[in-house]
Amino acid sequence: MHYTPSGGWIELVCGSMFSGKTEELLRRIRRAEIARKKVQLFKPTIDNRYGLVRVASHDGLAREDAVVVCNAEDVLRRLEVDTEVVAVDEVQFFDETIADVCDHLADRGLRVIVAGLDQDFRGEPFGPMPLLLARAERVDKLHAICVACGASASRTQRLIDGRPARYDDPVILVGGSESYEARCRNCHEVPGKPR
Ligand code: ZN
Repeated sequence: MHYTPSGGWIELVCGSMFSGKTEELLRRIRRAEIARKKVQLFKPTIDNRYGLVRVASHDGLAREDAVVVCNAEDVLRRLEVDTEVVAVDEVQFFDETIADVCDHLADRGLRVIVAGLDQDFRGEPFGPMPLLLARAERVDKLHAICVACGASASRTQRLIDGRPARYDDPVILVGGSESYEARCRNCHEVPGKPR
């Protein structure tokens, strides 16, 4: 943390799946809490369940309660008056309005920490991430390890029944089993991707 502006700012943690984004987000939250800052963590609903959920790192050691919201405006609605740090996990699932909400909060003097996938399984920019990447004061791209060759992985490989998902495979899969793994640019496969 070398960028220490006065007032508010936006910091973005991004990367592929398994790159440790949530762990890094939770680490920053813990440090803010040690500094006695009032922190609120939000995440988007994925199946229309709301309320309070627990966000945990993959190893399960770090955890934090999160407010589940259905859209970006809900972050403003659920914001408590004394909150100083706003954290958002899985920020790629919001629409582009989230970039304005983050800007608004930073303009009001809050520290905004957002974490999300920068690319979808096709290797293309994910939802609002380009806007957030442009507006953030600080950006950290984390890398996983490519399970195919051991290099640094920047991409998320989607597999359907063990084979690379095609470019035009539906995002919501009905039947079949899907899984994800981290891959580098060379090992990332998207059959049918237009060139
Ligand atoms: Zn590789």
